[in-house]
Amino acid sequence: MIDTKASFDREAAGAAKHARPLFFISDLHLSEAIPRTVAAFEHFIEVTANEADSVFILGDLFEFWIGDDILDAPATDARAAFARRMARVMHTLSERGIGLYVMHGNRDVLLGPRFMKDAGAMLLPDPFVITAFGKRLVLAHGDGLCTADRMYQHFRAVARSRFAQRLFLGLPLNTRLGIGQRMRAKSEGARMTRTSAKYDVTKKAVSELFIGSHTHTLIHGHTHRPAMHREVEGVRWVLPDWELDTASPRGGYLRLDENGLRPQPL
Ligand code: MN
Repeated sequence: MIDTKASFDREAAGAAKHARPLFFISDLHLSEAIPRTVAAFEHFIEVTANEADSVFILGDLFEFWIGDDILDAPATDARAAFARRMARVMHTLSERGIGLYVMHGNRDVLLGPRFMKDAGAMLLPDPFVITAFGKRLVLAHGDGLCTADRMYQHFRAVARSRFAQRLFLGLPLNTRLGIGQRMRAKSEGARMTRTSAKYDVTKKAVSELFIGSHTHTLIHGHTHRPAMHREVEGVRWVLPDWELDTASPRGGYLRLDENGLRPQPL
C-alpha cells in the first residue's frame, strides 16, 4: 500500500516494490437510481479488485454527497441505506488487504472522514503524485484542469472552501437532500450540451500540472472522454465514466503494472 503522507512532489515510499497492479477508476456517479452501474461497481470491488494491490477512485464516485451524516439517517431512507451499502462493500477491500484511495470529485467533494473510515479508505488530495513500477504519475479528478470554464472554476473554489462547506453542512439533512436533487436534475439537463472545448481540460493547465509535479504521466477523469493523449510534457490518460443503465452501456478502468498503463473493459 502507498504512504499517503507523501507530499505532492515526493515519491510515495515503497510503492515501486509491489508486483500486484494498481487499478484506477472515476466518475461512477453512483446513486440508487442506477442499479446496473451499482452492481458493476460491486462486482469490481468484490471480484475484479482481488488481483490489485490498491484501487484508486479519482472522484465522482457518487452522483452527489450531501454530508457524511447521511450514514446515520434512518434505514427507511433509501439514500441512507444506499450510502451505507456502498461504504460496506468498499470496506471489504481493506479486509482483504487491498488498499483503497479516494479523491474528491466535483459532485462528492463533501465525502469526509466518517465516510473514509466506514469505507476503509484514505482520502487523497487533488492532485496527488504516486510512484509505482518505477513510474512517477500524477493523479487528479480533472475538473481543476478545465480552466476555460471560468464560471465553473469560480464555483469550484467556493464549493471547496471550508466556509461554504460548513454553511451547507449546517443545513438540515432534508434541505441538503433537496438541494442535491435539484443540482442533479440541472446537471442532467446540461450533460447533453457539454461537448464543447470549454468543458475539456486546457493545454495550459495540463502543462502546468506536468511541470509542477515533475511527472510525465497524468491520470484524470471528469471529462467522460476516455483516451490516451500525447501532450508536450507527457502522456495524459482520461478515465471513462461508468453508465450501465442506458442503451449504450460504458465503463472501465486503467490498470498499472510492470508493463505500464492499460485500459481495461469491465
Ligand atoms: Mn467530475
